[in-house]
Amino acid sequence: MIHLTLDGQSVRVAPGTTIWDAATEHGIAVPALCHSPGLRPVGVCRLCVVDVGGRVLAASCVRPCEEGMQVQTTGEHIERQRRTLTALLLADHPIPCRKEQTTGDCALEALGRRYGLLEGEGSREELKPTGGAPWARPPALPPRGATRGLCILPPHPSARHTDLSSPVIAVDHGACILCDRCIRACNEVQCNEVIGRAGRGTGTRIAFDLDVPMGESTCVSCGECVAACPTGALTNKALSLPLVPRAQTTAVASVCPYCGVGCALTYHVKENRILWAEGRPSPGNQGRLCVKGRYGWDYTLSEQRLTRPLIRRPEFYPKGPLSRDVRGEGRRANGRTPIFEPAEVLPAFREASWDEALDLIARRLKEIRQAHGPATLAGFGSAKCSNEEAYLFQKLLRAALGTNNVDHCTRLCHASSVAALLETIGSGAVTDVFGHAADADLLLLTGTNTTANHPVAATFFKQATRRGTRLIVVDPRRPDMADFATWYCRLRPGTDVAFYNAVMHVLVRDGLIDRDFIRDRTEGFAALRDLVAAYPPARVAPICGVEARVIEEVARAIGTARALMVFWGMGISQHTHGTDNARCLIALCLLTGNIGRRGTGLHPLRGQNNVQGASDAGLIPMVYPDYQPVGADAVRRTFEQAWGVALDPKPGLTVVEIVTAALDGRIKGMLMMGENPFLSDPNVNKVRKALSALDFLAVLDIFLTETAEFADVILPAASFLEKTGTYTNTDRRVQIGRKTLDPPGAARPDWEVLCDLAGRLGYPMRYDAPEAVFAEFAALTQSYRGLTYERLGRTGKLWPCPDPETSDGTAVLFGDRFPTPTGRGRFVPCAFAPAKELPDADYPLVLNTGRLLEHWHTGTMTRRASALSALQPGPFVEIHPDDLARLGVADGQRVTVRSRRGAIELPARAREAVQPGSVFVPFHFREAAANVLTLDALDPHGKIPEFKFCAVRVEPCRS
Ligand code: SF4
Repeated sequence: MIHLTLDGQSVRVAPGTTIWDAATEHGIAVPALCHSPGLRPVGVCRLCVVDVGGRVLAASCVRPCEEGMQVQTTGEHIERQRRTLTALLLADHPIPCRKEQTTGDCALEALGRRYGLLEGEGSREELKPTGGAPWARPPALPPRGATRGLCILPPHPSARHTDLSSPVIAVDHGACILCDRCIRACNEVQCNEVIGRAGRGTGTRIAFDLDVPMGESTCVSCGECVAACPTGALTNKALSLPLVPRAQTTAVASVCPYCGVGCALTYHVKENRILWAEGRPSPGNQGRLCVKGRYGWDYTLSEQRLTRPLIRRPEFYPKGPLSRDVRGEGRRANGRTPIFEPAEVLPAFREASWDEALDLIARRLKEIRQAHGPATLAGFGSAKCSNEEAYLFQKLLRAALGTNNVDHCTRLCHASSVAALLETIGSGAVTDVFGHAADADLLLLTGTNTTANHPVAATFFKQATRRGTRLIVVDPRRPDMADFATWYCRLRPGTDVAFYNAVMHVLVRDGLIDRDFIRDRTEGFAALRDLVAAYPPARVAPICGVEARVIEEVARAIGTARALMVFWGMGISQHTHGTDNARCLIALCLLTGNIGRRGTGLHPLRGQNNVQGASDAGLIPMVYPDYQPVGADAVRRTFEQAWGVALDPKPGLTVVEIVTAALDGRIKGMLMMGENPFLSDPNVNKVRKALSALDFLAVLDIFLTETAEFADVILPAASFLEKTGTYTNTDRRVQIGRKTLDPPGAARPDWEVLCDLAGRLGYPMRYDAPEAVFAEFAALTQSYRGLTYERLGRTGKLWPCPDPETSDGTAVLFGDRFPTPTGRGRFVPCAFAPAKELPDADYPLVLNTGRLLEHWHTGTMTRRASALSALQPGPFVEIHPDDLARLGVADGQRVTVRSRRGAIELPARAREAVQPGSVFVPFHFREAAANVLTLDALDPHGKIPEFKFCAVRVEPCRS
C-alpha cells in the first residue's frame, strides 16, 4: 500500500491508484470534464489539477499516487486555474446547451455556475466574472467564439454544425469541448470504433466513420457516447414526452427486458411516461447498454396495447387468421406490407369484464379436462415473464389442470444445450460469468452473433481481445466479432460436429490434453478418444470447409491455452443435432481441463431476458422447479406436499410436440402467456392449422399478437415495465425488475391473473405480492435458497448464493466436482451426421434464420418501439453478392424465398458475410415470416427444431 497526505488527511491506497481515484475513495470531489470512472484517464481538460508537494499543479486523473506525497485538492491558486479553464471552455459554448435545456445537467455549465461565470439559467450575456474571491476575478473572459476547446482561435464553421441524422441521438458540434469521452466510450468501452476526430486546428471535431453524418455511419446507437458526454454535444432525442431536468423525474432501478445479458438500468419517469433510460452500475453490465435497452421502451405507449379482456364473437367461428398479412404467402395484393393492423382483427372480438372472461376460460378448460382428460390441455409460458409468473404458470398447469404439458421458448433456444449439459456435467447452468472473459487467454465463440444478440456481453469479449486474449470465432455466417478474432473459421452450415471432432482428434493425437483432469474429474474418455481418431483434419476439411492447417492451429491454441472459455448461441443449439454440437463443446473443455476455474468453462448465451429463470422455475414439461424430474417419486412427493395435490408422474409434451398434438386432436385446450408461436415456431403454416384446430385457446398478452388472432378469449397483461418481479440472466444473476409505469386500461400483471384463474379452477393460489411467490419458489429449490427481495438489493445475486447476506453469489461452478451421480463429467462421443433437409436441385440454398441487433424475437415489443422500428423497419434476405449475380437479382430487389413449406417475398440485400450457397432471413417480421420456410424436424434429445438449416430457393419477384 502507498501512504500519502490528501488535504491534510493521511490515507493509504493501492499501488497504481491515481490521485483523483484516491480523492474519490476518500469522499473528496475533484472536478473533471474529460474524466469519468470507467474510462481511461487522459488528462486533457486539466480541470482536475491538484497541488502536489507545493511545487506543481498536476492533473489528478492521470497522476499516480506516490509514497509520502503531499496533495492539496483545493486552494486559491488551484481554483483560479480551474476557473480560467472553465471560462475558456464556456466562451465557445452555447448557453444553455441542449443538455442543459433538456435534462439540465451540463457539467460545464455547472462548473460555470460554481465559478460564478454563469448566473441562474443563464444566457451568454450573463457569462461574466462576478468578483468575489481573488481567484475568481481576472483573467478577463475571452470574447464569444474566441476559443475552440482550449485553443485560442475562432472555431471553423465545420466544427459548429448540428447533426440530427440519427433517430435517437442529437449531435451539436458547437457544444463539444473535445474531451474525447465519447471517443473512449465508443472505442474502448463498447469497442465499436465509430467515433474519432476529424479536421485540423480550429476545425477539429468529433467525427463518425469517415466524417459522415451520424445516422449514415456504422453507429449502432448504443448511446454509450451520450452517457459519456459531459455537455450538450451528444444528447438523447425525446422518444415519448419532451425531456425534462433530471431532478423532475423519478428514477426507477430496474433491468432491461430484452436479452439474457440482463443489463441493470435506470428508467427516468414523469407522468407515467419513461423519458430516458441509462445504464446502472452492476457487476454484470457495468453500466453499459445496447440500443434496445437504452431506446426500446416506448412500446408500452402504443395505442395497440390490449386494455380490456376480449371474447370472440360467435360469427367468427370456425377460426382462422384474421389479418391478411400473416399468412406467410407473400405481401399483400396492394403491395403494402403493414406491420400491425389490429383493426382487421378486433371486429372478431367483443369487450368483456375480467370476471366474464376468466369464468369462460375456467369453464372451457374444465369441460375439456372432464370430457377428454388433463393430458389434452397444454400451456405455453414465456421467458419474457418473471420467475414468479413462470413458477405460477407451471404450478397452475400441473396442480390446477393436472398436466405436465407446459413449456416455453427455451425449447426453441437452448433446450439442446441444456440437455447436453445436464447429461454430461449434471447442470444446465453456465459455469462462469461472461464478465470473466478478460481472465481467459483464449475465447471460443461459436454459433453466436454476439454483437447483435448479446451486445453488451460482446463488449466484454472485444475488450478482452484488446488486452491480449486470443479469440477463435467459428460460424458459417461471418459475425462482426470475427473482426476481433485471431482465427475465424467459416465452416459449412451444419458441420460443427465434424469440425470439433477434428479439433479433438488433434488434441488427443498430440497429447494436448489435461490427463490429470481427465483421470480425476471425468469418465468415458476412451470412447471419445476412439471416436475422434476417425476424424483427422485432412478428412474433415472437405466436409466442414475449414482448411486442415487451420483446424490444426485452432486445436493447438486450445490445447496450449492456460484458460479457455467457450460461448455459444443458437448457431449451435438450433439444429437437429444441436445436442451433439453442445456435447462436443463440453468434451472440448473436459479434455483440456478448462472448467471450474475463473476464466474457463462453458457459457451458452441465454437468449431471452428470463430464459434461465423460466427454466429454473420449472416451465419445462419434464421437470419441476430447479430441474427436479417429474418422474422421480421422491421429488414428486415433495411437490405434492408443497402444492397439496396429486401430480402427474408422466413428463409432458414439448413446444413443437404440443403443436403437432393440437393438429391431430390430442391437445384440445391451451393457455398462452406471452408466447407467440405463430411467428416463433417452425413451419408456421402448420402452426396456423394447429391453432385453428384447438377447441379452446386463451391468450394472455400485452398486444394482439398473431397467435391471439386464433384465441377464444384474450386477456390484457401488464408489460414488463408495469409490474415487479425477478429475472435471472445468462450468468445466473437474479435481479429485480421494478414496476416503473401503471398498466393501461384494465391490463393486469400475469401473476394476479393466474391466481384468479386458479381459484376459478378450484385450486386457490393466494399471494399478497410477487415477493411471496418468490419465497415459495426459492424454498423449493437448492439454487435460489436463501435469496429474498431484500437480499437481492439493487444489483441482484448470482445463484447459488450460500451466503446471501455478504456475498454476490457464485460465479464459478464445479471447481472440485460435478453435480452428476458420480461427481464426474461425462464424455459423450458424437458421430457427424448431416442436417435433415439438404439442398438439392430444386432447393439449392441453405436458409439460416436469426435476430437483428434492433429487434427482439417476434418483434411484438421492438417493432412498436419507435426508435428500434425506425432503425430497422422491415424484412430482408441477405444473400452473397455472387449468388445474387447468378440469380440476376440486384441489391435491394424483391425476391421470393421458397421452401417445401411455403414462400415469402422480401427485398434482397447483398452481404459478403453470408456464405455463398446460403441465405439469412431475420425472423422478426410478420409480413415476411421466416418461419413460414423453416422445418419442424426436432433434435431427438433437446426437442429443438432445426431453425438454422433447411433447403430453399430464391427467385426474382414477378411483380
Ligand atoms: Fe438489454 Fe441485452 Fe442490450 Fe443489455 S445487451 S441492454 S440486456 S438487450
